Amino acid sequence: MKIIPHGAALEVTGSCHELQIESSNGVKRILLDCGLFQGKRSETAQKNSSFTFDPSKDIDAVILSHAHMDHAGRIPLLFKKGYRNPVHCTFATADLSEVMLMDSGYIQEKDEEYFHKHLKKSMIKCEGPLYTQKDAIDCMKIFKGHNYEEWFDVCDGVRAQFLEAGHIVGAAMVVLEITEGKRKIKFGFTGDLGRSTLPIIRDPAAMPETEVLICESTYGNRAHEDISSARNHLRDVVVKTAERGGKVFIPAFSLERTQEIVYDLHVLWDAKDIPSVPIIIDSPLATKVTEVFMKHPECYDKDIYEKFLSKAHNPFQFSLVRYTGSVDESKALNNTPGPMVIMAGSGMCEAGRIRHHLRNGIEDPKNTVLAVGYMAEQTLGRKIIDPEISEVRIFDEMHQKEAEIVHINAYSGHADMNDLDGFVSKTGGLKKVILVHGEHDSMDVFAGRIRNSMPKAEIIIPKTGQAIVI
Ligand SMILES: [Zn+2]
Repeated sequence: MKIIPHGAALEVTGSCHELQIESSNGVKRILLDCGLFQGKRSETAQKNSSFTFDPSKDIDAVILSHAHMDHAGRIPLLFKKGYRNPVHCTFATADLSEVMLMDSGYIQEKDEEYFHKHLKKSMIKCEGPLYTQKDAIDCMKIFKGHNYEEWFDVCDGVRAQFLEAGHIVGAAMVVLEITEGKRKIKFGFTGDLGRSTLPIIRDPAAMPETEVLICESTYGNRAHEDISSARNHLRDVVVKTAERGGKVFIPAFSLERTQEIVYDLHVLWDAKDIPSVPIIIDSPLATKVTEVFMKHPECYDKDIYEKFLSKAHNPFQFSLVRYTGSVDESKALNNTPGPMVIMAGSGMCEAGRIRHHLRNGIEDPKNTVLAVGYMAEQTLGRKIIDPEISEVRIFDEMHQKEAEIVHINAYSGHADMNDLDGFVSKTGGLKKVILVHGEHDSMDVFAGRIRNSMPKAEIIIPKTGQAIVI
Protein backbone atom coordinates (compact mmCIF):
# COMPACT_ATOMS: atom_id res chain seq x y z
CA MET A 1 0.00 0.00 0.00
CA LYS A 2 0.92 3.64 -0.40
CA ILE A 3 0.15 6.76 1.60
CA ILE A 4 0.13 10.12 -0.19
CA PRO A 5 -0.45 13.31 1.82
CA HIS A 6 -2.32 15.91 -0.23
CA GLY A 7 -2.30 18.50 2.57
CA ALA A 8 -1.32 19.13 6.22
CA ALA A 9 2.20 18.04 5.22
CA LEU A 10 4.65 20.39 6.94
CA GLU A 11 1.70 22.72 7.56
CA VAL A 12 -1.35 22.77 9.79
CA THR A 13 -4.27 23.07 7.37
CA GLY A 14 -5.67 21.17 4.37
CA SER A 15 -5.69 17.76 6.10
CA CYS A 16 -6.08 15.09 3.37
CA HIS A 17 -4.17 11.80 3.12
CA GLU A 18 -4.76 9.27 0.39
CA LEU A 19 -4.34 5.54 0.96
CA GLN A 20 -3.83 3.34 -2.10
CA ILE A 21 -4.46 -0.32 -1.37
CA GLU A 22 -4.01 -3.25 -3.75
CA SER A 23 -7.10 -5.47 -3.86
CA SER A 24 -8.31 -8.30 -6.07
CA ASN A 25 -10.44 -5.66 -7.87
CA GLY A 26 -7.56 -3.28 -8.57
CA VAL A 27 -6.23 -0.41 -6.47
CA LYS A 28 -8.66 1.03 -3.89
CA ARG A 29 -8.19 4.69 -2.99
CA ILE A 30 -9.37 6.13 0.32
CA LEU A 31 -9.09 9.72 1.57
CA LEU A 32 -8.56 10.37 5.25
CA ASP A 33 -10.12 13.87 5.61
CA CYS A 34 -10.62 16.41 2.83
CA GLY A 35 -9.91 19.76 4.46
CA LEU A 36 -9.53 23.37 3.41
CA PHE A 37 -6.20 25.12 3.26
CA GLN A 38 -6.54 28.23 5.39
CA GLY A 39 -4.51 31.42 5.37
CA LYS A 40 -3.99 34.21 2.89
CA ARG A 41 -6.35 33.94 -0.06
CA SER A 42 -3.60 34.51 -2.61
CA GLU A 43 -1.66 31.53 -1.23
CA THR A 44 -4.51 29.10 -0.69
CA ALA A 45 -6.93 29.75 -3.59
CA GLN A 46 -5.08 27.52 -6.05
CA LYS A 47 -4.45 24.74 -3.49
CA ASN A 48 -8.13 24.69 -2.52
CA SER A 49 -9.65 24.72 -5.97
CA SER A 50 -7.98 21.69 -7.53
CA PHE A 51 -7.44 18.01 -6.73
CA THR A 52 -4.61 15.87 -8.09
CA PHE A 53 -7.10 13.04 -8.72
CA ASP A 54 -10.46 12.85 -10.44
CA PRO A 55 -13.10 12.91 -7.67
CA SER A 56 -15.74 11.49 -10.03
CA LYS A 57 -13.95 8.17 -10.47
CA ASP A 58 -10.70 7.78 -8.52
CA ILE A 59 -11.79 7.76 -4.88
CA ASP A 60 -13.63 4.81 -3.28
CA ALA A 61 -14.30 6.30 0.16
CA VAL A 62 -13.64 9.26 2.44
CA ILE A 63 -13.12 8.79 6.17
CA LEU A 64 -13.55 12.04 8.07
CA SER A 65 -11.97 12.55 11.50
CA HIS A 66 -13.93 15.64 12.64
CA ALA A 67 -15.93 18.69 11.58
CA HIS A 68 -13.25 21.41 11.67
CA MET A 69 -12.97 23.07 8.26
CA ASP A 70 -9.28 22.27 7.84
CA HIS A 71 -10.36 18.59 7.88
CA ALA A 72 -13.85 18.63 6.30
CA GLY A 73 -13.98 21.90 4.36
CA ARG A 74 -13.39 20.62 0.82
CA ILE A 75 -15.97 17.81 0.89
CA PRO A 76 -18.63 19.97 -0.88
CA LEU A 77 -16.09 20.66 -3.63
CA LEU A 78 -15.31 16.94 -3.92
CA PHE A 79 -19.06 16.34 -4.30
CA LYS A 80 -19.41 19.19 -6.80
CA LYS A 81 -16.67 17.59 -8.90
CA GLY A 82 -18.55 14.28 -9.03
CA TYR A 83 -17.61 12.25 -5.94
CA ARG A 84 -20.62 10.13 -4.88
CA ASN A 85 -19.17 7.40 -2.62
CA PRO A 86 -19.64 7.62 1.17
CA VAL A 87 -18.06 10.01 3.67
CA HIS A 88 -17.73 7.94 6.84
CA CYS A 89 -17.68 9.78 10.18
CA THR A 90 -19.26 9.69 13.64
CA PHE A 91 -22.91 10.72 13.96
CA ALA A 92 -21.98 13.94 15.78
CA THR A 93 -19.42 14.85 13.10
CA ALA A 94 -22.10 14.40 10.40
CA ASP A 95 -24.47 16.81 12.19
CA LEU A 96 -21.73 19.34 12.98
CA SER A 97 -20.39 19.15 9.40
CA GLU A 98 -23.77 20.21 8.07
CA VAL A 99 -23.75 23.40 10.18
CA MET A 100 -20.07 24.17 9.60
CA LEU A 101 -20.09 23.47 5.82
CA MET A 102 -23.21 25.61 5.36
CA ASP A 103 -21.40 28.42 7.17
CA SER A 104 -18.32 27.87 5.00
CA GLY A 105 -20.50 28.07 1.85
CA TYR A 106 -22.08 31.27 3.20
CA ILE A 107 -18.65 32.85 3.85
CA GLN A 108 -17.58 32.00 0.30
CA GLU A 109 -20.73 33.51 -1.19
CA LYS A 110 -20.12 36.69 0.85
CA ASP A 111 -16.48 36.81 -0.27
CA GLU A 112 -17.66 36.64 -3.85
CA GLU A 113 -20.13 39.50 -3.27
CA TYR A 114 -17.38 41.58 -1.66
CA PHE A 115 -15.10 40.92 -4.59
CA HIS A 116 -17.68 42.07 -7.11
CA LYS A 117 -18.42 45.22 -5.09
CA HIS A 118 -14.90 46.31 -4.21
CA LEU A 119 -12.17 44.48 -6.08
CA LYS A 120 -13.49 43.88 -9.56
CA LYS A 121 -11.36 46.61 -11.09
CA SER A 122 -8.23 45.55 -9.22
CA MET A 123 -5.72 43.00 -10.46
CA ILE A 124 -6.89 40.35 -7.96
CA LYS A 125 -8.41 37.40 -9.77
CA CYS A 126 -11.49 35.75 -8.29
CA GLU A 127 -12.44 32.30 -9.49
CA GLY A 128 -15.87 32.41 -7.84
CA PRO A 129 -16.80 30.61 -4.64
CA LEU A 130 -15.35 27.12 -4.17
CA TYR A 131 -18.87 26.07 -3.27
CA THR A 132 -22.15 27.60 -2.13
CA GLN A 133 -24.52 26.84 0.74
CA LYS A 134 -26.53 24.74 -1.69
CA ASP A 135 -23.48 22.63 -2.58
CA ALA A 136 -22.85 22.17 1.14
CA ILE A 137 -26.35 20.95 1.85
CA ASP A 138 -26.34 18.73 -1.28
CA CYS A 139 -23.20 16.86 -0.22
CA MET A 140 -24.70 15.88 3.14
CA LYS A 141 -26.53 13.00 1.43
CA ILE A 142 -23.27 11.04 1.11
CA PHE A 143 -22.34 11.36 4.82
CA LYS A 144 -22.64 8.09 6.68
CA GLY A 145 -22.67 8.21 10.48
CA HIS A 146 -21.16 5.51 12.72
CA ASN A 147 -20.95 4.91 16.45
CA TYR A 148 -17.62 5.11 18.20
CA GLU A 149 -15.87 1.72 18.49
CA GLU A 150 -18.17 0.09 15.91
CA TRP A 151 -16.36 -1.68 13.04
CA PHE A 152 -17.59 -0.94 9.50
CA ASP A 153 -16.52 -2.02 6.01
CA VAL A 154 -14.92 0.71 3.92
CA CYS A 155 -14.15 -1.19 0.71
CA ASP A 156 -12.64 -4.53 -0.36
CA GLY A 157 -10.01 -5.50 2.19
CA VAL A 158 -10.49 -2.50 4.48
CA ARG A 159 -12.52 -2.14 7.65
CA ALA A 160 -12.46 0.74 10.08
CA GLN A 161 -13.40 1.91 13.54
CA PHE A 162 -13.64 5.37 15.16
CA LEU A 163 -12.17 5.95 18.61
CA GLU A 164 -12.56 9.03 20.82
CA ALA A 165 -9.98 11.70 19.93
CA GLY A 166 -10.89 14.07 22.80
CA HIS A 167 -10.50 17.09 20.52
CA ILE A 168 -14.02 18.44 19.79
CA VAL A 169 -17.46 16.86 19.99
CA GLY A 170 -17.63 14.00 17.46
CA ALA A 171 -13.88 14.00 16.74
CA ALA A 172 -12.37 10.59 16.21
CA MET A 173 -9.15 8.77 15.62
CA VAL A 174 -9.41 6.26 12.78
CA VAL A 175 -8.28 2.66 13.15
CA LEU A 176 -8.02 0.62 9.94
CA GLU A 177 -7.48 -3.08 9.35
CA ILE A 178 -6.15 -3.48 5.85
CA THR A 179 -5.79 -6.78 4.03
CA GLU A 180 -3.52 -6.69 1.01
CA GLY A 181 -3.07 -10.16 -0.48
CA LYS A 182 -1.85 -12.29 2.39
CA ARG A 183 -0.69 -9.29 4.37
CA LYS A 184 -2.66 -7.64 7.18
CA ILE A 185 -1.75 -4.09 8.18
CA LYS A 186 -2.91 -2.40 11.35
CA PHE A 187 -3.11 1.28 10.64
CA GLY A 188 -3.97 4.35 12.72
CA PHE A 189 -4.72 8.02 12.02
CA THR A 190 -4.99 10.41 14.94
CA GLY A 191 -6.88 13.20 13.14
CA ASP A 192 -6.49 16.07 15.61
CA LEU A 193 -5.59 14.58 18.96
CA GLY A 194 -7.13 16.27 22.00
CA ARG A 195 -6.23 16.40 25.66
CA SER A 196 -7.34 14.80 28.88
CA THR A 197 -9.44 16.90 31.27
CA LEU A 198 -10.91 19.29 28.67
CA PRO A 199 -14.42 20.35 29.69
CA ILE A 200 -17.44 18.64 28.06
CA ILE A 201 -15.83 15.90 25.95
CA ARG A 202 -14.32 12.57 26.91
CA ASP A 203 -10.57 12.04 27.16
CA PRO A 204 -8.74 10.63 24.12
CA ALA A 205 -8.83 6.83 23.85
CA ALA A 206 -5.64 4.80 23.60
CA MET A 207 -4.65 3.67 20.10
CA PRO A 208 -4.62 -0.15 19.88
CA GLU A 209 -1.54 -1.95 18.58
CA THR A 210 -0.69 -0.27 15.27
CA GLU A 211 2.00 -0.89 12.68
CA VAL A 212 1.69 2.40 10.82
CA LEU A 213 0.51 5.61 12.48
CA ILE A 214 -0.22 8.99 10.91
CA CYS A 215 0.12 11.35 13.84
CA GLU A 216 -0.67 15.06 14.15
CA SER A 217 2.10 17.24 15.62
CA THR A 218 0.65 20.75 15.99
CA TYR A 219 2.22 21.27 19.43
CA GLY A 220 5.15 18.86 19.10
CA ASN A 221 7.45 21.40 20.75
CA ARG A 222 5.19 23.19 23.26
CA ALA A 223 3.51 22.48 26.59
CA HIS A 224 0.13 24.03 27.48
CA GLU A 225 -0.92 25.80 30.63
CA ASP A 226 -2.70 23.40 33.01
CA ILE A 227 -6.39 23.21 32.09
CA SER A 228 -7.43 23.01 35.76
CA SER A 229 -6.33 26.64 36.22
CA ALA A 230 -8.45 27.92 33.31
CA ARG A 231 -11.82 28.03 35.06
CA ASN A 232 -10.42 29.99 38.02
CA HIS A 233 -8.67 32.37 35.67
CA LEU A 234 -11.99 32.90 33.86
CA ARG A 235 -13.72 33.54 37.19
CA ASP A 236 -11.13 36.18 38.17
CA VAL A 237 -11.56 38.04 34.87
CA VAL A 238 -15.37 38.13 35.15
CA VAL A 239 -15.34 39.19 38.82
CA LYS A 240 -12.76 41.94 38.33
CA THR A 241 -14.39 43.40 35.20
CA ALA A 242 -17.86 43.28 36.79
CA GLU A 243 -16.53 45.21 39.82
CA ARG A 244 -15.41 47.95 37.42
CA GLY A 245 -18.84 47.90 35.71
CA GLY A 246 -17.17 46.88 32.45
CA LYS A 247 -17.79 44.37 29.69
CA VAL A 248 -15.76 41.22 29.03
CA PHE A 249 -15.37 40.62 25.30
CA ILE A 250 -14.46 37.03 24.45
CA PRO A 251 -13.57 36.29 20.82
CA ALA A 252 -14.26 32.58 20.51
CA PHE A 253 -14.56 29.91 17.84
CA SER A 254 -18.21 28.94 17.48
CA LEU A 255 -17.43 25.24 17.53
CA GLU A 256 -16.31 23.86 20.91
CA ARG A 257 -14.55 26.85 22.50
CA THR A 258 -17.80 28.83 22.93
CA GLN A 259 -19.54 25.82 24.48
CA GLU A 260 -16.57 25.13 26.79
CA ILE A 261 -16.61 28.70 28.09
CA VAL A 262 -20.42 28.70 28.55
CA TYR A 263 -20.12 25.42 30.40
CA ASP A 264 -17.38 26.73 32.69
CA LEU A 265 -19.39 29.91 33.37
CA HIS A 266 -22.37 27.69 34.21
CA VAL A 267 -20.33 25.68 36.73
CA LEU A 268 -18.99 28.95 38.21
CA TRP A 269 -22.51 30.40 38.46
CA ASP A 270 -23.90 27.26 40.13
CA ALA A 271 -21.12 27.55 42.72
CA LYS A 272 -21.92 31.29 43.09
CA ASP A 273 -18.32 32.06 42.14
CA ILE A 274 -19.31 34.75 39.62
CA PRO A 275 -21.73 37.66 40.10
CA SER A 276 -25.08 37.89 38.33
CA VAL A 277 -24.05 39.50 35.03
CA PRO A 278 -25.69 38.97 31.63
CA ILE A 279 -23.74 36.53 29.43
CA ILE A 280 -24.48 37.12 25.75
CA ILE A 281 -23.60 34.56 23.09
CA ASP A 282 -23.66 36.85 20.09
CA SER A 283 -23.07 34.33 17.32
CA PRO A 284 -25.78 32.67 15.20
CA LEU A 285 -23.29 29.92 14.24
CA ALA A 286 -22.47 29.20 17.91
CA THR A 287 -26.20 28.96 18.62
CA LYS A 288 -26.64 26.36 15.86
CA VAL A 289 -23.55 24.41 16.98
CA THR A 290 -24.80 24.40 20.58
CA GLU A 291 -28.10 22.88 19.38
CA VAL A 292 -26.12 20.06 17.72
CA PHE A 293 -24.13 19.52 20.93
CA MET A 294 -27.38 18.91 22.81
CA LYS A 295 -28.29 16.16 20.34
CA HIS A 296 -25.15 14.16 21.11
CA PRO A 297 -24.87 13.31 24.80
CA GLU A 298 -22.96 10.14 23.75
CA CYS A 299 -19.91 12.39 23.26
CA TYR A 300 -19.87 13.92 26.75
CA ASP A 301 -17.61 13.12 29.67
CA LYS A 302 -18.75 11.73 33.04
CA ASP A 303 -18.51 15.11 34.76
CA ILE A 304 -21.00 16.87 32.50
CA TYR A 305 -23.25 13.82 32.61
CA GLU A 306 -23.37 13.70 36.42
CA LYS A 307 -23.64 17.46 36.96
CA PHE A 308 -26.15 18.20 34.20
CA LEU A 309 -27.55 15.55 31.89
CA SER A 310 -28.55 13.05 34.58
CA LYS A 311 -30.68 15.85 36.10
CA ALA A 312 -32.13 16.91 32.74
CA HIS A 313 -30.22 20.17 33.19
CA ASN A 314 -29.00 21.89 29.98
CA PRO A 315 -25.25 22.59 30.40
CA PHE A 316 -25.34 25.43 27.87
CA GLN A 317 -28.36 27.30 29.19
CA PHE A 318 -28.83 29.01 32.55
CA SER A 319 -30.47 32.13 33.87
CA LEU A 320 -27.63 34.52 32.95
CA VAL A 321 -27.18 33.30 29.36
CA ARG A 322 -28.87 34.75 26.32
CA TYR A 323 -28.27 33.67 22.72
CA THR A 324 -28.83 36.59 20.34
CA GLY A 325 -30.27 36.26 16.86
CA SER A 326 -30.61 39.37 14.74
CA VAL A 327 -27.98 41.97 13.89
CA ASP A 328 -30.19 44.64 15.53
CA GLU A 329 -30.15 42.70 18.79
CA SER A 330 -26.36 42.52 18.50
CA LYS A 331 -26.01 46.25 17.79
CA ALA A 332 -28.26 47.14 20.73
CA LEU A 333 -25.58 45.68 23.04
CA ASN A 334 -23.36 48.66 22.15
CA ASN A 335 -25.70 50.98 24.05
CA THR A 336 -26.36 48.62 26.94
CA PRO A 337 -24.12 49.47 29.91
CA GLY A 338 -21.98 46.82 31.65
CA PRO A 339 -21.28 44.74 33.53
CA MET A 340 -21.76 42.06 30.91
CA VAL A 341 -19.94 39.20 29.19
CA ILE A 342 -20.15 39.10 25.38
CA MET A 343 -18.85 36.13 23.45
CA ALA A 344 -18.75 36.33 19.65
CA GLY A 345 -16.85 35.06 16.62
CA SER A 346 -14.58 34.97 14.91
CA GLY A 347 -12.02 33.39 17.18
CA MET A 348 -9.14 35.45 15.81
CA CYS A 349 -11.24 38.66 15.40
CA GLU A 350 -10.82 38.60 11.63
CA ALA A 351 -14.54 38.61 10.87
CA GLY A 352 -17.91 38.39 12.57
CA ARG A 353 -19.67 40.38 15.27
CA ILE A 354 -16.75 40.52 17.70
CA ARG A 355 -15.20 43.31 15.63
CA HIS A 356 -18.20 45.59 16.21
CA HIS A 357 -17.98 45.01 19.95
CA LEU A 358 -14.24 45.64 19.98
CA ARG A 359 -14.61 48.84 17.99
CA ASN A 360 -17.19 49.97 20.50
CA GLY A 361 -15.39 48.92 23.67
CA ILE A 362 -11.64 48.44 23.30
CA GLU A 363 -10.91 52.06 24.29
CA ASP A 364 -12.72 51.82 27.63
CA PRO A 365 -10.40 50.86 30.52
CA LYS A 366 -13.34 49.38 32.44
CA ASN A 367 -13.60 46.60 29.82
CA THR A 368 -11.56 43.44 29.29
CA VAL A 369 -10.74 41.60 26.09
CA LEU A 370 -10.31 37.96 27.06
CA ALA A 371 -8.55 35.79 24.46
CA VAL A 372 -9.19 32.07 24.98
CA GLY A 373 -7.69 30.57 21.84
CA TYR A 374 -4.80 30.55 19.45
CA MET A 375 -4.26 33.81 17.56
CA ALA A 376 -2.37 33.36 14.30
CA GLU A 377 0.23 35.87 13.17
CA GLN A 378 -1.05 38.96 11.35
CA THR A 379 -4.61 38.58 12.70
CA LEU A 380 -6.37 41.32 14.65
CA GLY A 381 -6.54 38.91 17.60
CA ARG A 382 -2.74 38.52 17.64
CA LYS A 383 -2.30 42.31 17.55
CA ILE A 384 -4.70 42.68 20.46
CA ILE A 385 -2.80 40.24 22.68
CA ASP A 386 0.63 41.57 21.65
CA PRO A 387 1.80 43.82 24.55
CA GLU A 388 4.16 45.68 22.19
CA ILE A 389 1.25 47.03 20.15
CA SER A 390 -0.75 49.91 21.68
CA GLU A 391 -3.32 50.58 18.98
CA VAL A 392 -5.13 48.37 16.49
CA ARG A 393 -6.99 48.94 13.25
CA ILE A 394 -10.65 47.87 13.35
CA PHE A 395 -12.83 48.67 10.30
CA ASP A 396 -10.23 51.08 8.94
CA GLU A 397 -9.98 53.15 12.12
CA MET A 398 -7.19 53.08 14.65
CA HIS A 399 -8.21 52.37 18.26
CA GLN A 400 -6.10 52.66 21.42
CA LYS A 401 -5.99 49.45 23.48
CA GLU A 402 -7.27 50.95 26.76
CA ALA A 403 -9.24 47.85 27.84
CA GLU A 404 -7.46 45.25 29.95
CA ILE A 405 -6.13 42.41 27.76
CA VAL A 406 -6.01 38.89 29.20
CA HIS A 407 -4.97 35.69 27.42
CA ILE A 408 -5.87 32.25 28.79
CA ASN A 409 -4.30 29.63 26.54
CA ALA A 410 -5.16 26.62 28.69
CA TYR A 411 -8.30 25.84 26.66
CA SER A 412 -6.36 24.50 23.64
CA GLY A 413 -8.10 21.49 22.09
CA HIS A 414 -4.84 19.99 20.84
CA ALA A 415 -2.52 17.59 22.61
CA ASP A 416 0.66 19.34 23.73
CA MET A 417 4.16 17.83 23.56
CA ASN A 418 3.68 15.82 26.76
CA ASP A 419 0.30 14.46 25.63
CA LEU A 420 1.78 13.52 22.22
CA ASP A 421 4.74 11.73 23.82
CA GLY A 422 2.43 9.83 26.16
CA PHE A 423 0.13 8.85 23.30
CA VAL A 424 2.88 7.56 20.99
CA SER A 425 4.76 5.73 23.74
CA LYS A 426 1.58 3.87 24.76
CA THR A 427 0.88 2.72 21.18
CA GLY A 428 2.32 -0.78 20.76
CA GLY A 429 3.78 -2.36 17.61
CA LEU A 430 4.78 0.84 15.80
CA LYS A 431 7.04 0.36 12.79
CA LYS A 432 6.39 3.61 10.97
CA VAL A 433 5.25 6.94 12.39
CA ILE A 434 4.28 9.54 9.78
CA LEU A 435 4.14 13.05 11.21
CA VAL A 436 1.66 15.52 9.72
CA HIS A 437 -0.32 18.61 10.72
CA GLY A 438 2.54 20.60 12.17
CA GLU A 439 5.14 23.17 11.28
CA HIS A 440 8.75 22.28 10.61
CA ASP A 441 10.21 23.18 14.01
CA SER A 442 7.51 21.44 15.95
CA MET A 443 7.80 18.25 13.87
CA ASP A 444 11.59 18.05 13.99
CA VAL A 445 11.65 18.25 17.76
CA PHE A 446 8.83 15.73 18.11
CA ALA A 447 10.51 13.34 15.62
CA GLY A 448 13.74 13.56 17.61
CA ARG A 449 12.01 12.55 20.82
CA ILE A 450 10.26 9.57 19.16
CA ARG A 451 13.58 8.41 17.63
CA ASN A 452 15.13 8.42 21.10
CA SER A 453 12.31 6.54 22.75
CA MET A 454 11.63 4.10 19.85
CA PRO A 455 14.90 3.58 17.98
CA LYS A 456 13.43 0.75 15.87
CA ALA A 457 10.53 2.77 14.46
CA GLU A 458 10.97 4.74 11.26
CA ILE A 459 9.86 8.37 11.57
CA ILE A 460 8.77 10.09 8.37
CA ILE A 461 7.96 13.77 7.80
CA PRO A 462 6.50 13.74 4.28
CA LYS A 463 6.08 16.58 1.82
CA THR A 464 2.81 17.15 -0.04
CA GLY A 465 2.43 14.55 -2.79
CA GLN A 466 5.29 12.36 -1.54
CA ALA A 467 4.25 8.70 -1.75
CA ILE A 468 5.21 6.53 1.21
CA VAL A 469 5.32 2.83 0.39
CA ILE A 470 4.31 0.52 3.21
ZN1 LIG B 1 -9.44 20.17 14.65
